[in-house]
Amino acid sequence: MTIDSEENRLPCGTKVARKLRARVPVNSLTMNQRKAVGIDLGTTFSAVAHIDAYGKPQIVPNSESERITPSVILFDGSNVIVGTTAKNNAMAEPEKIVDFVKREMGKPKEQFHREFSGKIYSAEELSALILKKLKLDAEKYLKEPITDAVITVPAYFNDAERTATITAGQLAGFNVLQIINEPTAAALAYGLDKLEEDQTVFVFDLGGGTFDVTIMRIEGHHINMIATNGDHRLGGKDWDDSIVNFVAEEFDRQHGENPLLDLQSYQELHTRALSAKIQLSSRPQTAVIHHHSGKSVKLEITREEFERRSQHLVEKCKTICEMVMQESRMTWDKIDKVLLVGGMTRMPMVRALVGQLTQAPVIDDVNPDEAVAMGASIQAILSLLEEERLSGEKVLPENTRDQFAGRDGGLIQVTNITSHTLGVVLWDEAQLEEYVFPMIRKMTAIPATAKNSFGTAMANMQRAVVRVVEGESTLPGECTPLGICDVELPSFLPKGSPVELTYEYNANQVLEISVEACGNRAKVSIERNTGLAPGEVAQAIANLGSLRVA
Ligand code: AMP
Repeated sequence: MTIDSEENRLPCGTKVARKLRARVPVNSLTMNQRKAVGIDLGTTFSAVAHIDAYGKPQIVPNSESERITPSVILFDGSNVIVGTTAKNNAMAEPEKIVDFVKREMGKPKEQFHREFSGKIYSAEELSALILKKLKLDAEKYLKEPITDAVITVPAYFNDAERTATITAGQLAGFNVLQIINEPTAAALAYGLDKLEEDQTVFVFDLGGGTFDVTIMRIEGHHINMIATNGDHRLGGKDWDDSIVNFVAEEFDRQHGENPLLDLQSYQELHTRALSAKIQLSSRPQTAVIHHHSGKSVKLEITREEFERRSQHLVEKCKTICEMVMQESRMTWDKIDKVLLVGGMTRMPMVRALVGQLTQAPVIDDVNPDEAVAMGASIQAILSLLEEERLSGEKVLPENTRDQFAGRDGGLIQVTNITSHTLGVVLWDEAQLEEYVFPMIRKMTAIPATAKNSFGTAMANMQRAVVRVVEGESTLPGECTPLGICDVELPSFLPKGSPVELTYEYNANQVLEISVEACGNRAKVSIERNTGLAPGEVAQAIANLGSLRVA
């Protein structure tokens, strides 16, 4: 642990104790009857599911009667339109459109924002508008207010991205019960009826903007996450862009002009490329026509050529799959089933990759677009049941409680693991350099708590600044800084006095920190250098309240 000035550094020193223990998450809302949904907040599409009167997860259609809603926002003055209408307008009014906002989650406003009618919107606020539309439509369909939600995130999302997703849910008016990993949700949806068959499942989740692989073990009523890896900037859009670039190169070759410099032209071409990509999943060839500034180009694209041009993307997926196998210390023959999630897994080249990696059968009876939301809706009921158990207050409809609690052998239990190492920056007195000490290592079962004591470097140190980082490296520069905790120390501490640092990683994989020096224990909030600052949240609620979302 180092502190703010050189004179006040704490040495890497004296590790006193380290302990990991499980902790049960507690939720504080105490209202009577509640209605919870599961939400797959996707890069390109989002979906909502709930548990019906028979205890089964069901997709909740939106007000356009669609089972999935494009995660696209159209700003039209104080009206905000989310979904297909916005998507269809992307070509005509690209300057009024926001899409792929999931890729920006966790970034501070200075790094990512969009401005409409003089107002600035962060990634959380934009995501909140998508969630608001999903909430309003679900309330209309189910004819009751929705109070709670479980929202899914890629397993590989980091602390900043998870925190931003929780904030987005709250801004949309949800009590966010939990943030769960998309592959865990898919495994829940898949596993609900198969809990008696012990098996190891490889979840391959390639969506519109993110790629996640997770190894899960289903054993009795336990679903345990064994390992996870991924790339949150690898997804369908990259395959779309390979077609976009192919057509743009041809346009440039024929007309000496880059059609991508014009936003409208790019949007048009992207829409055509996406449709060509989907066609190439079932046809050996297709054609893309693109018009721009009075000129046009027609390009025949074969599946073979498309696959050649996007081979590097499949290679990236392959590397990540191999990395997760290594991390889990497993071999492919130990995988019993492959669960494909995300629309991109319909692509033949992706299926071919999976077949090349493992002979394990692919599970086909789960809809890759809907499984995640359905699994999240199951988790929502599990979370509320846990709340009922802890508080003694009944908040679920009786039939739902009976159907879930009454399953043979008891409730489903899900154990997740951390997807990144959480560390603290320390000062190495011998080497005279900073390094990262891992407090909670990647692949630790969560919720988890880790405690370590470090000695003060000198007498009468006034403050300690705990620098919290996330990442696998021991070099601070190679990790992602999460923020700092600035802690006042008691006066007149002798050199080497123990300062105990506790990292608590909750079920949402969001970190809380406390510091204890000379018996004074203080919970310190991390001043995150990501996402919305606490003071900006009230402003964001006011901002969003003035918009009409449909
Ligand atoms: P998701 O985020 O899971 O909804 O995945 C959406 C992504 O899957 C988008 O990039 C879609 O273009 C892509 N997708 C959906 N269906 C197909 C298909 N049949 N072939 C290729 N890509 C598809």
